[in-house]
Amino acid sequence: MKITGIRTMTVDVPLEEPVITAIHDIRSIGYVLVFVDTDADVTGEGHLFSLPARHLAPLEAMTAVLGQSLVGEDAHRVEGLWHKLWTEVNFVGHKGVPLFALSALDMALWDARGKALGQPVHRLLGSCRDAVPAYHSGGLWLSRSEDELVAEAKSFLKQGFRAMKMRLGKPRWQEDVQRAEAIRDAIGPDIRLMADANQSLDVRHALRLGRALEPVNLDWFEEPVPAYDVAGHAVLAAALDTPIATGETEYTRYGFRPLIEAKAADVLMPDLGRVGGVTEFMRVGHMAQAWDLPVSPHLYSEPSLQLCGALQNCDLLEYMPWSARLFSEQIEFDEGQARIPDRPGLGFSFDLDALERYRTGPAAEGAAKPAARRPARRAAAKKDEAPAPKAEAKAKPKASAAPKAKPAAKAPPKPKAAPEPAPEPVRRRRREPGKTPWYLRRETEEA
Ligand SMILES: [Mg+2]
Repeated sequence: MKITGIRTMTVDVPLEEPVITAIHDIRSIGYVLVFVDTDADVTGEGHLFSLPARHLAPLEAMTAVLGQSLVGEDAHRVEGLWHKLWTEVNFVGHKGVPLFALSALDMALWDARGKALGQPVHRLLGSCRDAVPAYHSGGLWLSRSEDELVAEAKSFLKQGFRAMKMRLGKPRWQEDVQRAEAIRDAIGPDIRLMADANQSLDVRHALRLGRALEPVNLDWFEEPVPAYDVAGHAVLAAALDTPIATGETEYTRYGFRPLIEAKAADVLMPDLGRVGGVTEFMRVGHMAQAWDLPVSPHLYSEPSLQLCGALQNCDLLEYMPWSARLFSEQIEFDEGQARIPDRPGLGFSFDLDALERYRTGPAAEGAAKPAARRPARRAAAKKDEAPAPKAEAKAKPKASAAPKAKPAAKAPPKPKAAPEPAPEPVRRRRREPGKTPWYLRRETEEA
């Protein structure tokens, strides 16, 4: 299955209400969408998201540039292609923007593979379950009053969820405890409750808060301290009975290995769009199995379902409704369990109407409609029907195509000038025989 082209576009999807956490004030979510076209009449779809959306431009540019290295390759060779891209980004770095791009491309490759083979990705990876418990993560924000927290927690129960996540990070830790107790009282002892501090605390604050929260019986205490403070996470993991969860801002297995070695996490949270795509998520999941550690995907609810369906130790999905508007299909729930889609590929396709509504920037042109789902244009490609060169010149370039150099204007004839004199030969100073050159002399040596 040969890769024939890569297209990208950006969309900015407004949220129904702003999201306030200890470190966020989010009004919309920006996405880079990537389409991997193949000669097998399938298009693989992948995406990444950015907070804030104004960072999309470099992310899209890197995705488009890196994607060009895939053109002409066999889309089934995901392992080899992952390594090819990994090697290519060595100079710019194995974290950050290059890894977001690599992740989105890898996601699209797995989607293309599944579609071509008529199989969901979780089957290609080795299936282990048909449904997975999901926790509702789209609420219980820091900005909610205590009454609003209680009402929202109850509404999640009404929707059938048996697990949910609140946010921590009030200036006084006593207030966080009070809010957690209010939710626990409202939902009862059997509902799973997680709490996320979004990296907002220092170790001492987190320790006092964590100890005071033990009676609330949290499933986990997430990112209590800055993500880079591995030692701080390890102190808390050793001191508290409540499991410590972290890893959403880590890249690749090389980011997760130090967390495991330092015993800094009881739950690992790879983010599909950052860790290195489906390929690398599986590696982190398998590495965690060697330490009997669970993994729970961070965001990317729709495609992450395939990972939950393929990894025995990945048995809890974060359900965030942010990206639901991007897709034609929606996650199906049954009593708090999310069904692992059996549709080919990742199981969720971009909703073309939504893309049209939320598209941003001039780069969106030509990328919105995946080739596999729009009327074939192959006829136009036939030689005898090829457009006249004049019309071709007017055609707009594809979104992700590298800008073509302008055709050179006809240069005015050069005035005849006298031939330039030949450059003088460079005169090199010859070292006198037996004399040490200055750059080899020791300080003690006489000049
Ligand atoms: Mg988090």
